[in-house]
Amino acid sequence: MTREIARAAIVSVGNELLFGETINSNAAWLGRALAEKGIVVSRGYTVGDARTSIQDVVWTATQFADLVIISGGLGPTTDDITRNAVADLFGRRLHRDESLLANLRDRFHAHGYGEFPETNLSQTEVPEGAIVLRNPHGTAPGLALEQGPALVVMLPGVPRELHGIFLGDLSTLLEEWLGGRMVPVHHRTLHTTGVPESRLAELIEEAMRADPPLASAMAEVSLAYLPDLRGVDLRMTASSVSSEEAEASLDRAEEELEARISRWRYRAKSGDIVESVSGALTDRGLTLAVAESCTGGLITKRLTDRPGASTSFLGGVIAYDDSVKMSVLGVSQQDLSRFGAVSEVVARQMASGVSERLGSDVGLAVTGVAGPDGGTKEKPVGRVWLALILNGANKTRSIDFPGDREAVRERAAQAALAMLLRTL
Ligand code: ATP
Ligand code: MG
Repeated sequence: MTREIARAAIVSVGNELLFGETINSNAAWLGRALAEKGIVVSRGYTVGDARTSIQDVVWTATQFADLVIISGGLGPTTDDITRNAVADLFGRRLHRDESLLANLRDRFHAHGYGEFPETNLSQTEVPEGAIVLRNPHGTAPGLALEQGPALVVMLPGVPRELHGIFLGDLSTLLEEWLGGRMVPVHHRTLHTTGVPESRLAELIEEAMRADPPLASAMAEVSLAYLPDLRGVDLRMTASSVSSEEAEASLDRAEEELEARISRWRYRAKSGDIVESVSGALTDRGLTLAVAESCTGGLITKRLTDRPGASTSFLGGVIAYDDSVKMSVLGVSQQDLSRFGAVSEVVARQMASGVSERLGSDVGLAVTGVAGPDGGTKEKPVGRVWLALILNGANKTRSIDFPGDREAVRERAAQAALAMLLRTL
């Protein structure tokens, strides 16, 4: 039996979304939550707080979608018109829901707000035939209408309230409504860093042409390249119906890909290379200290963002000015004036200096030209020297990073962490 996968549309309502005052995080959250349930979001709309716009897109959406989720405009103020617009569109009269009214009154009294305000009455109005979805975090309930073959759901715009309703009553309703038509998609993400997206794609495509086992394994999954400043994620998706089949396809594809990408690959549940770095340091019982110039504490921040960093990370020195490189890290004044702050010699002295002063097994250092000013012909913007010292042995590397100041700093921090991971 073939099962048609349920299709959804998301309608985001609010002038603030169109004017760019609020980022439409509800649509992103709903997109992920629906995908996780195996519902494909095939269209998304954003409209202002205008009756005809809301009615237009909701009508269009019900023509193809099994599920239409509308967010925003359910509040008590006059700009909140979603409830009315949608009820009118489908010719449903609004009526007061007495149990909602009683709840709302109790809530007001419990919070000591005194008299119940008239403006809140609109939130107790429910379109004929609507299913009321409880809001664990606020006063406006969610509302669901069966409209022909489609289910039309209205949720409040406040993210916490929307999440609460979705994860509670709406999830139960979706199971009932769509049941077997929700087909979870199986993803697996492989993380890489230190290789540009285009090069990675080229390499994998070439390998598939030359290597039939790889090609046949990859035919069972679809591959997406997801680049950011820290690296490129390879997201494999298997659309087999059973999860055993999907997992088997993903295993095969991962196994075949491994040889091609192992130079750049790191493993981390969170996707953050710091997770693997911390794991590797802890496994080997090593401690780390960091000296940062152009990254200004970024590496230290990333290392300490994760709870439990203190098992391996001792601390860091932001040696931005040359005077600090000399006085705190013991970098030689002569070398600084001879080779400059962005040089192999200085990077190496920063790494050994910080590891000596802080008493760590590993010292990691970064010095570079983050830009936008300060670049020269010999040392252009983006030039970064990385140095690592581990039990007396050291390793250095220079890289010219593309991009603006933020990109250079982010990439430099990531490259330093990657160098550390590979050495471990
Ligand atoms: P309220 O009862 O607070 O009026 P509401 O259902 O009327 O709720 P809105 O007035 O549209 O919702 O928005 C309430 C808050 O939620 C606003 O601060 C708004 O910026 C935020 N919000 C609305 N829509 C979104 C969205 N799509 N993504 C993220 N935040 C949103
Ligand atoms: Mg509102």
